[in-house]
Amino acid sequence: MERLLEGLDPEQRAAVDAPRGPVCVLAGAGTGKTRTITHRIAHLVARGHVSAGQVLAVTFTARAAGEMRTRLRALGVPGAQARTFHAAALRQLRYFWPRVVGGPHWELIDRNKLRLVAQAANRAGLSTESDSLRDLAGEIEWSKASLVAPDDYPAAAARTHRDTPAPVEQVVEVYRTYEQLKNQAQLLDFDDLLLHTAAALEEHGEVAEEFRDRYRCFVVDEYQDVTPLQQRVLDAWLGPRDDLTVVGDANQTIYSFAGASPRPLLDFARRFPGATVVRLERDYRSTPQVVALANEVIKWARGRPSGSRLRLVGQRPAGPEPRFAEFDDEPAEAAAVAQRVRALLDEGVAASEIAVLYRVNAQSEVYEQALAELGIPYQVRGGERFFQRTEVRQAMVALRSAAAQEPSGELPKVVREVLTGVGLTDDPPPGGAARERWESLLALVELAEELAAEVDGVDLAKFVVELDVRAEAQHPPTVEGVTLASLHAAKGLEWDAVFLIGLVEGTMPIMHADGDEAAIEEERRLLYVGVTRAREHLWLSWALARAAGGRRYRRRSRFLHGLVPEDHPASLVAKREPLQRKPKPQCRICGATLTDARSIKLSRCASCPSDLDEELLGRLRAWRAGRARELKVPAYVVFTDATLVAIAEQRPEDVAGLVAIAGIGAAKLDRYGADVLALVQGKR
Ligand code: ATP
Ligand code: MG
Repeated sequence: MERLLEGLDPEQRAAVDAPRGPVCVLAGAGTGKTRTITHRIAHLVARGHVSAGQVLAVTFTARAAGEMRTRLRALGVPGAQARTFHAAALRQLRYFWPRVVGGPHWELIDRNKLRLVAQAANRAGLSTESDSLRDLAGEIEWSKASLVAPDDYPAAAARTHRDTPAPVEQVVEVYRTYEQLKNQAQLLDFDDLLLHTAAALEEHGEVAEEFRDRYRCFVVDEYQDVTPLQQRVLDAWLGPRDDLTVVGDANQTIYSFAGASPRPLLDFARRFPGATVVRLERDYRSTPQVVALANEVIKWARGRPSGSRLRLVGQRPAGPEPRFAEFDDEPAEAAAVAQRVRALLDEGVAASEIAVLYRVNAQSEVYEQALAELGIPYQVRGGERFFQRTEVRQAMVALRSAAAQEPSGELPKVVREVLTGVGLTDDPPPGGAARERWESLLALVELAEELAAEVDGVDLAKFVVELDVRAEAQHPPTVEGVTLASLHAAKGLEWDAVFLIGLVEGTMPIMHADGDEAAIEEERRLLYVGVTRAREHLWLSWALARAAGGRRYRRRSRFLHGLVPEDHPASLVAKREPLQRKPKPQCRICGATLTDARSIKLSRCASCPSDLDEELLGRLRAWRAGRARELKVPAYVVFTDATLVAIAEQRPEDVAGLVAIAGIGAAKLDRYGADVLALVQGKR
C-alpha cells in the first residue's frame, strides 16, 4: 500500500489518501492529475474501501481510457473499469434494455446519420449539400449534449449567441424531423446512448438500485470538458451518493463548441461542501523552458473563470529553449520539421516519442509527404489519412473518370476544373467541415501544380497514376512511428518532442473564431494544450505562403505575440540554418541551380533528359518490396520512389556516389548500401 503513495508529492498524496467521498483535483497540465486518480483508485481498492469491480472511471477519448486502463493494470487493479462516457453508457444500456424498453436492441445509427439529416433538411427546404448537412448534424449534437430539446432550441440559441447553420425555425424543424425518423427506424445516435442511460436510471427505481449496488465509486478525468448531458448521466449514476473524484484543468477546456463547460469542475466544492479539494502546481511533465512558455501562453487569456489561475512550476531539469521558426511556405516548413525529426531520431529520441500537432486535419498531408520523403514512419491519429477522406476519394473517382476522356489543357487547370465539380471553390469557405474539405481539394490542385512543374507533358492520366502511387505508399501496415494528430486528439497525452505547426492567423486561431471572443479564447486554450504536451523539445512554426513560391500574405498567429524573441529575428529562421549552409545543388546535366525537392533528389532539372535505367528501377523496386516485408515497414520507409529513381538514373558505383543522393544518409547507407551497390552492379 505504501508503494501506492510513493512517488507522489504531498498534495497528490492528500488526494490519493482522502477517504471515500467527494474529491476534486483542480490543476494545470502535467501536474499528475491522471496519475493521482489512478493511484487513488488503486489505493481505495488496496485499503479494502471498495472492490476493483465497483469502480467506474470515465474520460472522454478512447485513447485516454486505454491509457488509464494501462496505468491501472500496472498498479495491480486490472478489474477497475476505465471507459469513455459513451462506451460505459452503451454497455449499461445493453444490459438494462430488456427491462426499460424491451424488444430487440436498437441499432447504433453509425453512417446513416447524415442520410436522416438529409431527409430532414430536405423536408425543411434546406440544402442537402454534404457540408451543410454536417453543420446541421453538429448543431443537433450540440443541442442534445446541452440538453436542449427542439422546442427549446430558439431560446437556447439566442442565449448562447449561436452562429446557427440555418434560420432558427428551420434548425428546429430539421432537429425534430431527424428525431422522428430516427426513432421510427429504431436507431440510436451517440447522444441517445447517454440520454437513454440517464432516463433508465431516473425512471426505473429497480434499475437504479441494481446499478448503484454494482458501482460504488466514480472517477472522472478531464472533467473540464463535461457536457450537461454527460453530467446528467453522472448524476444518475451517483443518485444520492457522493463517492465521486473529479480532476480537471479549466484552462484546457477545448470542447465548449460542442457544449462542454468547466462550470461543474469549478463549482464542485460548492455542490459538495465536504469535498477534499486539492490544487497541484508542480509540473512533472515538462522542462522549465516549456513550462515558462505554457504559463506565458495562458497568461494572456481573457475572462478566465476564478479558480483557473494556476501557475505551473516546472520540476524537471532544464532543457532546450523552445524553437520558433518562420518559413516562406508550407512545403518548406514541413521539410524543415521532417529534417528536425530526423535529427532527433539520430540523437536517439524514439519515433513514438515525437508528435506533430495541427489545428485541422487537412494540414497533415504536407507533413505526411515530408516525413515519407525522409523515410520516417508516421501514424495519423484522430483523423483520417489524407487519401481516405471522403472528399479525396470522391475527387479521385472524378479525376479518374475525367482522365478517360483524355482532356486537353494544362494539368493544374484541368484538375481544378474537375474538382470544381466536386465542390472546389475559388475562395475558401469560412470554416468548419467545409473549410477542411476545401483544403483537401486544394491540396490536390497543388500536387498537380508541383507535378506539372517537374515533369514535362504530364497529363491527367499520369496524375491519376501518381495519386494512386502516393495513396498506396500512405497505406502502411501499423508501424511504430511519429504521431501526426490534431490538437484536440492530443489532449491528456505527452511526447518528448512536440512540433506545433501552421501557427498562422486563420488556422490558429481558426478563421471562424474571428470576432467571437469566447471562440478565440478556446483557440488559445487549444494552443496551451499543445504546448503542454511536450516533455522536452518544443517547436513552434508558421509559413507565410501556402504553396511553394506562393504569395506571402499570411500573418503569424496573434497568440505568438510577445512569445517570439523579437530581438533575434535571425535566430528564428530555421530555414537559414542547416539547409542553406550547403552549396546549392546543381543539375548534373546542364549545371543549373536546383531548387525544388524532386529535382534536387534527381540531381537534374525536371526538363533535362532522363537517363533512367528502367530495368534497374524494376529490380530496385522488387528488392525494396522484399525488404519492406521483412522489416514490416511501409516501402517508403526503406526508400521513397524518388530516391529509387535517382539511384536508377545515377547508377552510383561506390559509397561516395550513393551518399551524394539526397535521402541516403548514414543510417540508410549502413542498412542498405551494400544491397544497392550490388543491385547497380547487376550482382543481385
Ligand atoms: P494533463 O492535464 O495533460 O492531462 P496530468 O495532470 O493528467 O496532465 P499526468 O499525465 O498524470 O498529468 O502526469 C504528467 C507526467 O508527470 C507523467 O509522465 C507522470 O508520470 C509524471 N508525474 C506525475 N506526478 C509525478 C510525481 N509525483 N513524480 C514524478 N513524476 C510524476
Ligand atoms: Mg491527464
